[in-house]
Amino acid sequence: MSWFRRIERGLGRGDKRDMPDGLWRKCDGCGEIVYERVIQRNYWTCSKCGYHFMISSQDYISMITDEDSFVEMDANMRSVDPLGFRDSKRYTDRLRSALKKTGLGEAILTGTCTIGEHEAVIGVLDFKFLGGSMASVVGEKVARAVKRALDEKRFLVLVSSSGGARMQEGILSLMQMAKTSAWLGRLSEEKGLFVSVLTHPTTGGVTASFAMLGDLIIAEPGALIGFAGPRVIEQTINQELPEGFQRAEFLLDHGMVDMVVPRPDMRKTLVGVFDFFGDVDRPCDEKERPAILKTPPHIEVKADRKVDGAAPETPR
Ligand SMILES: [Zn+2]
Repeated sequence: MSWFRRIERGLGRGDKRDMPDGLWRKCDGCGEIVYERVIQRNYWTCSKCGYHFMISSQDYISMITDEDSFVEMDANMRSVDPLGFRDSKRYTDRLRSALKKTGLGEAILTGTCTIGEHEAVIGVLDFKFLGGSMASVVGEKVARAVKRALDEKRFLVLVSSSGGARMQEGILSLMQMAKTSAWLGRLSEEKGLFVSVLTHPTTGGVTASFAMLGDLIIAEPGALIGFAGPRVIEQTINQELPEGFQRAEFLLDHGMVDMVVPRPDMRKTLVGVFDFFGDVDRPCDEKERPAILKTPPHIEVKADRKVDGAAPETPR
């Protein structure tokens, strides 16, 4: 059909495909459309290119911890607006809408759990809640998580994804850097083990405090990790930055992180580390996969099926 005839008839909108929300996702890494279930079964990574999708703090916790072992700490702690801050919106309105959007009380979920039967305290920042920014409540929850790990001699895992300190709380948010670092200093004196997991992106005040203080620092592949963003640095020093600058692999090459671990291997790696430090002789294998990630039996997923944009059969 020629273009001219097509213009005459108009482009039309065609029949709208009935495709339920959240069934497919476009990969930001390779641009392929991937079936959501396949992504989820693959630990929220792309089966084609290995791109790591951003996931919620709840999903990260379910991925790492033993099934049903997570008990949330300080669930009712909420931020206030100490400065009466307002930019284009009131801070209180931003908080309210973040709460509504994510169902979370703040940008971090902390709690006790077991990981491969090792007693641990875990804290996971959630980027969807105001960019995972560190407010006073976030800092306090991190501090309490460290204290709990200290008091009960548990391993500590903090998973970061953050834009930095929450500027709406001004100096109070910056003070959290000192507070969390001081508590981690105490944990270190008491020979506690802290594993810091850095996901995309970990920047600003979080990088400049607890995220880089891990006894072991593990990053996810391709994660942006830094203090100021590459554009700001480039403009400041007036020089072109090297390829892959501030990415996990670059930081590994330059000694800033200890390991780059793909998400499907994260739990296994943590269990292996805790086995080593907890003096447990046990091979970590596929059994370590948490039950929540097994494909539900009533849905058939074929990972190798060619995706052509057509809606899949309705799961029965
Ligand atoms: Zn991809």
